[in-house]
Amino acid sequence: MPQVLISEVGPRDGLQSVKATMPTEHKLRWIDALHAAGLREIEVASFVPARLLPQMADAAEVVRHAITLPGLVVMALVPNRKGAQAALDAGVHKLTMPVSASPAHSLANVRKTPTEMVEEVRAISELRRELAPQVRLEAGISTAFGCTLQGLVAEDDVIRLAVQCVEAGADDVGLSDTVGYANPAQVRRLFRRLRAEIGVHAGAAHMHNTRGLGIANCLAAFDEGVRTFDASLGGLGGCPYAPGASGNVVTEDLVFMFEAMGVSTGIDLDKLLAARAPLAAGLPGEPVYGMTAEAGLPKGFAPTTSTQQQA
Ligand code: ZN
Repeated sequence: MPQVLISEVGPRDGLQSVKATMPTEHKLRWIDALHAAGLREIEVASFVPARLLPQMADAAEVVRHAITLPGLVVMALVPNRKGAQAALDAGVHKLTMPVSASPAHSLANVRKTPTEMVEEVRAISELRRELAPQVRLEAGISTAFGCTLQGLVAEDDVIRLAVQCVEAGADDVGLSDTVGYANPAQVRRLFRRLRAEIGVHAGAAHMHNTRGLGIANCLAAFDEGVRTFDASLGGLGGCPYAPGASGNVVTEDLVFMFEAMGVSTGIDLDKLLAARAPLAAGLPGEPVYGMTAEAGLPKGFAPTTSTQQQA
């Protein structure tokens, strides 16, 4: 068993943040390549009206393909009950909901206040219980470390919202640095509080690399016991409703860090780097990031798979 779960969010978080729309067949090829590299959780789509996000118009088709890949947990973002219904109909294994700690960001992103979003979590949790009780429901607390619209976000607000999401039925609650404001000391503090308050329900760290601290923030979260990390191949992503937000943590660099530390990810780095080709092919001209891809793997580098057998 890998010691950390790298949850790839590029096909959702990444693709919805770029202007161009990746054609469906390219999305499927890219997701196949990510799966072949060993990724076992991928956020493949967002179930929102196509007039708002034309990049996600093929969400159901993408899900129906992704669920055929063995061993893959297929996740989709849903902002409301209607989206959740469509995602469940398509056969997702896991739903993720954006619940913003900043009222300004919440209104801009989903046109609801944080309190209204908690009620949405409750409604979706009930829907899932009726239709597909095996499906997991995750709430990601967006702008948990700061907001481009509001500025500072009180840590008490973040923790209270996380507790409310668990009470409303979320299985996991993660913290998202949607706009790249977090620093490692803050990440340690907030995840420590989160784990103290909601225990096993404490979920993923979703870090952005906007100011170059994405990897350092992931390490800080790891030190606090976090074992699921969202990342995006080539650092694709941002937030269309958060001005200045750019770049999720680069999957390749994050996997390299963990593997170099001897923390197993279950991911083959060479195949992961190869998955950049279908990404680039599907989004011609779009910049992709990543230091590991530029520099290559160090001489004598030994990933954890070379020292221990993995299933
Ligand atoms: Zn993101």
